[in-house]
Amino acid sequence: MDFTFTPQQEALRAEFKEFFAEEEKRAPEGWTGGIEALFASDEGWVYHRSVAEKLAERGWLALPWPKEYGGKEHSYMEQLIFSEVKSYHRVPGADLWGPYIVAPSILEYGTEEIKREWLPRIARAEINWCQGWSEPNAGSDLASLTTRAVEDGDDYVINGQKTWTSGAHRADHIFLMARTDPNAPKHRGLTYFLSEMDRPGITVRPLLYMNRAHLYNEVYFDNLRIPKRNIVGPVNVGWYVTMAGINFERSMVGGVAEAKRDLEDLVEFCKQTRRDGQVLAKDPLVRQRLAEFAIEIEAGRQWAYNVSWLQSKNPMISGEPSASKYFITELTVRLANAGVEIMGLYGTLRTGSKWANLQGKFEALCQESLGITIAAGSTETMINLIAWMGLKLPRIR
Ligand SMILES: Cc1cc2nc3c(=O)[nH]c(=O)nc-3n(C[C@H](O)[C@H](O)[C@H](O)COP(=O)(O)OP(=O)(O)OC[C@H]3O[C@@H](n4cnc5c(N)ncnc54)[C@H](O)[C@@H]3O)c2cc1C
Repeated sequence: MDFTFTPQQEALRAEFKEFFAEEEKRAPEGWTGGIEALFASDEGWVYHRSVAEKLAERGWLALPWPKEYGGKEHSYMEQLIFSEVKSYHRVPGADLWGPYIVAPSILEYGTEEIKREWLPRIARAEINWCQGWSEPNAGSDLASLTTRAVEDGDDYVINGQKTWTSGAHRADHIFLMARTDPNAPKHRGLTYFLSEMDRPGITVRPLLYMNRAHLYNEVYFDNLRIPKRNIVGPVNVGWYVTMAGINFERSMVGGVAEAKRDLEDLVEFCKQTRRDGQVLAKDPLVRQRLAEFAIEIEAGRQWAYNVSWLQSKNPMISGEPSASKYFITELTVRLANAGVEIMGLYGTLRTGSKWANLQGKFEALCQESLGITIAAGSTETMINLIAWMGLKLPRIR
């Protein structure tokens, strides 16, 4: 791999830095930057939407897309730089799914009509998406999902239930997979639909997280009618449309940048906080833990760059992104726990308490980080993929 960035990429990084450093100053009180900050409070959501409009104005939500659909035709590496700088500054503004999962699927499989209808709206940040994939009995084995879609005139009629639907209570649109052919092998009978959330037949119920925050939901479809023109790709090919979406930039560089920032804050805290008559930064056990995380985060950063570089040569690589997901999410869990342990009992106080250290960031991270080891494919699924697709070991079903 060539580790140097081009002068144009460095210039773009500087432009992103200037913008996000400024936007970070506008964060609402107590903002910690995670998914809870985004979906749980109205202030967080208003902040997210206000940044989204600015990102859209600059064309930064569509960096790698073709120009004709509002994109800038940048490479995976420019997308990586954007994600890295944005995450380091803990600034929201990019819908978690529209530009990064829905748009790539549309670009790969959508008709010209679908591209022209949906892509500019995603680039302009007009749409807030949620992802209707997982079901109560279909998570790791997603292709076994049972939500049914039955053809009826110009529409399909959808019945079933999705679960763990992040941000569905904030979203105005959902992209979902439903079974259109129950007799076909499980991967070959699925279809990919787009729908407004305010269509009759959609009910959203909160699924409170273990800390009682409202981030996730159950979504029920009860004779929901979706017009055929809202299908992406051919009927019964939805699985492959879905896979095209998840092959977008998958380096996890955002997670690394967040971990780097969290570690920097923890280091500063340890330099300034005294315990038993000396600053924490002089405690050999604390120093050792911090130094170990610094090494791991740097290794994660190099790996993430490597994944993006490999993807710029071949977007379909599979073992390396799984290794990134596994390494960064598990590292985040350990970092969060280390932060809380170093802070002692104060570390367990939530955002909002006047006694919380670093605005309760590490307590929040402790809770959130467990979720990210499961969402978008669990740690065990990542290990299976590394073994099967990365190391070419025999597949075990
Ligand atoms: C915080 C969070 C946010 C989420 N957001 C969304 C969302 O917005 N939209 C959406 O559609 N889904 C979402 N999900 C769902 C997520 O994709 C699933 O939870 C995940 O795929 C795991 O599926 P499951 O929960 O059904 O667990 P299961 O698949 O039942 O797995 C249970 C356990 O068994 C392990 N396991 C399963 N199969 C194997 C195997 N073959 N080998 C070894 N171990 C195995 C798993 O790793 C896990 O530990 C979210 C989940 C979480 C936790």
